[in-house]
Amino acid sequence: MKFNLGRYAMKCFICGKKPVYHYSDFSFSLCKRHFIEWFEKRVFETIRRFKLINPGELVAVAVSGGKDSLTTLYLLNRFSKELNFDVVGIAVDEGIKGYRECKLEALRKFADEINANLIIASFKEYFGATLDDMVQVLKEKNFEYKPCTICGVFRRYVINLKAREIKASKVATGHNLDDEIQVFVMNMLRAGLRNIAREGIISGLHEHPKFIPRIKPLYFCREREVLAYSILSGIETPFVECSYVVHAFRDKIRRWINKVESLNPGVKLNLLVSKELISNLLRNSKYGEGVIKTCRVCGEPSSGDLCKACFFKNYLGLGTSIVLRREM
Ligand SMILES: [Zn+2]
Ligand SMILES: [Zn+2]
Repeated sequence: MKFNLGRYAMKCFICGKKPVYHYSDFSFSLCKRHFIEWFEKRVFETIRRFKLINPGELVAVAVSGGKDSLTTLYLLNRFSKELNFDVVGIAVDEGIKGYRECKLEALRKFADEINANLIIASFKEYFGATLDDMVQVLKEKNFEYKPCTICGVFRRYVINLKAREIKASKVATGHNLDDEIQVFVMNMLRAGLRNIAREGIISGLHEHPKFIPRIKPLYFCREREVLAYSILSGIETPFVECSYVVHAFRDKIRRWINKVESLNPGVKLNLLVSKELISNLLRNSKYGEGVIKTCRVCGEPSSGDLCKACFFKNYLGLGTSIVLRREM
């Protein structure tokens, strides 16, 4: 017998109204109301089933100002009453002229509208210099390192420090299903087995006393779904691109996966399933025994004797940060 599932694409699978979103891998569509309900329920159930947040916890959402992190802040803020936890957004002001001011202004407005707490931590405060200043030094050294590499290391470092300062017990990020499988494929191509073992919907639990565990509530949501949800829910973010962004390897992988998915709907989900199976196997092997060390300079969690942030601080000729001096 042959089922023609294509006809479900013409109207909402639940109520028959005009659809706004089509799931090509399952051949069904949803109207605005049912798509929003289905999306929110999935994120809610992800948090509950995987025990991402326990009652009484303070969760810091790392907000970059993009649709994924805004959606994460918006939904966690909404679920916080029912699941009995507290939420605060942490935005990092890297000091990128033109880009960051615009995003921060929109972010403050958004946090105000949804009644969410927002804290801003800056590179200037922690490292005594802005990313723009750092790029000048990189330029003198002929860009031996990319600004995005340094920015990423410093952002993660600052978010962990700030989350600890405010006594948050989890850091939530806006990583979606597409992000996860792109990083997985990149790790496979680079044979980064330790990274595959370490990354997941929740990471860093009991790893290091100074590391705040990370959670990813949008883990099972596709990039396109998050975009559709943010538009339909009125979550707006100005489209300004960081002036230092380099679309390199990651972008090629993203386009390749999207092309394969459009030809064979379902491969994205299969990749996620494969990732879960492989990372579980690796976690129980020698690749899962990654002992997180303590940086000999700043005392923060590190993969080696010297953490990447201290390495780059030294490379860029930046002094010990104000906050770390205060802690000493
Ligand atoms: Zn419907
Ligand atoms: Zn360090």
